[in-house]
Amino acid sequence: MDIVQVSAELAPWSKTGGLGDVCGALPRALAARGHRVMAIAPRYKAYEGAWDTGARAQFHLFGSRHEVAYFHLLRDGVHHVFIDHVSYRRPGIYGDEHGVYGDNLFRFALLCRAALEAPLRVPLDGGPMGEACVFHANDWHTGLLPVYLEGLYRSVGRFPLAPCVHAIHNAGHHGAFDAHHFAGLDVSTRWWPACDMDGRLNCLKAGITLAAKLVTVSPSYARQLCIDHGHGLEGLFAHRARDLWGILNGIGPEWDPATDKHLPAHFSADDLSGKAACKAALQRELGLPVRPEVPLFGVVARLDHQKGIELIMGAAPWLLRQDVQLVVLGSGGAQYEDWVRRMAREFPKRARGWVGFSEPLAHRIEAGADLFLMPSRFEPCGLNQLYSMRYGTVPIVHATGGLADTVPTWDPASGQGTGWAFPDFAVDGLVQAIGWALHTFHGHKDAWRQVQQNGMRRDSGWDRAAALYERLYGSAFG
Ligand code: ADP
Repeated sequence: MDIVQVSAELAPWSKTGGLGDVCGALPRALAARGHRVMAIAPRYKAYEGAWDTGARAQFHLFGSRHEVAYFHLLRDGVHHVFIDHVSYRRPGIYGDEHGVYGDNLFRFALLCRAALEAPLRVPLDGGPMGEACVFHANDWHTGLLPVYLEGLYRSVGRFPLAPCVHAIHNAGHHGAFDAHHFAGLDVSTRWWPACDMDGRLNCLKAGITLAAKLVTVSPSYARQLCIDHGHGLEGLFAHRARDLWGILNGIGPEWDPATDKHLPAHFSADDLSGKAACKAALQRELGLPVRPEVPLFGVVARLDHQKGIELIMGAAPWLLRQDVQLVVLGSGGAQYEDWVRRMAREFPKRARGWVGFSEPLAHRIEAGADLFLMPSRFEPCGLNQLYSMRYGTVPIVHATGGLADTVPTWDPASGQGTGWAFPDFAVDGLVQAIGWALHTFHGHKDAWRQVQQNGMRRDSGWDRAAALYERLYGSAFG
């Protein structure tokens, strides 16, 4: 198949969270299965090795003409296409220290317009891809893609068979704007009802309404979207439930403790000795006492309402009165960042907080910690619990969405389970789960080793997911 994936983030070039990771990894897995794949994202800055194809396109948007250029980089069998326009070349992807950019609707509408021209204009090995492709849009940023596909192309006989699949990585972000902005999009008012939610222009709703198929990143989240986690779009999701798939994310090869370039030592499920070295190195790096026997808890997250940081804040006074260590890496809401700093000040011998974004440190925490806290309020899939399991770091999670689908609670009777999942979103639930985990860590070394190895041996590769995406695209063509 010819597959055109379009997203606001594309790791390793651009990433603020899981969206970037997934959009970077899935195309590689699809290409490895023999498909021709284009992965399109904005060119936020000059990327080494990406060359100007010479292809240009002009679009009328918000009252004026805008020209974009197409840059190309073939890597891992994937045609990465970066859309170049002056509005992308800024310090942040969505905003900067002054807040979100005021022209994000324009920037991502332009991305959709440019992406639809990419298979027609960007020369690949044997010329442009052509019209018989499947478009794979992601989150609200590309919600307008099927509006343009239907309104500007299909209506005049172009892309007659090309379906659009819309992937929801997080339904909490709608891309909602005042209705008058619709006039700037350069499509007929015929498409307004698809975009209209409560009198506002809603990009996510447009994607959900018009895409041929919908997919989200775990089966549980697919169900929850139709019931109570649709952020106001539950009815629409329920209406489209037959077209809504749930496919769990995989994790990429850069998250492998046997080869991870960020680690001071390597390890695997069969030989965990390198993990002890990673733990000691992390303790040294953080200036914490180097003690192999003390349980070291890790947190790596966007510090956001979604991530349930309140539960960690609620449990911390209890947790940090015990002989444990805790490291938190994250950035986001000011109240959470303040707490991270305060907690590290209050418990200097036990806790460290690192406010910011650091990919290398995230890897070292995943490798060096014994336990990982992820009590998300809701979680479409979640990647950090997958990384944790792969690194023998036992996750403690709130049983919601992808966390519920990927972290079965340890059952000593059967020897099954990869962590602890608590059912109710409450501090008590987290505390109880931590209690069980500590009990096992201290008192049942063999069981602990088993939990670690169960997680490490779990199949989290992308190939399984890519095979399901293949079927999804096939059904979208159908
Ligand atoms: P989400 O996409 O909701 O942020 P996920 O768990 O799916 O949550 O993915 C988060 C990704 O972002 C992971 O790769 C994680 O390591 C990374 N990440 C989040 N915050 C940070 C940070 N402060 N520093 C480095 N990596 C981070």
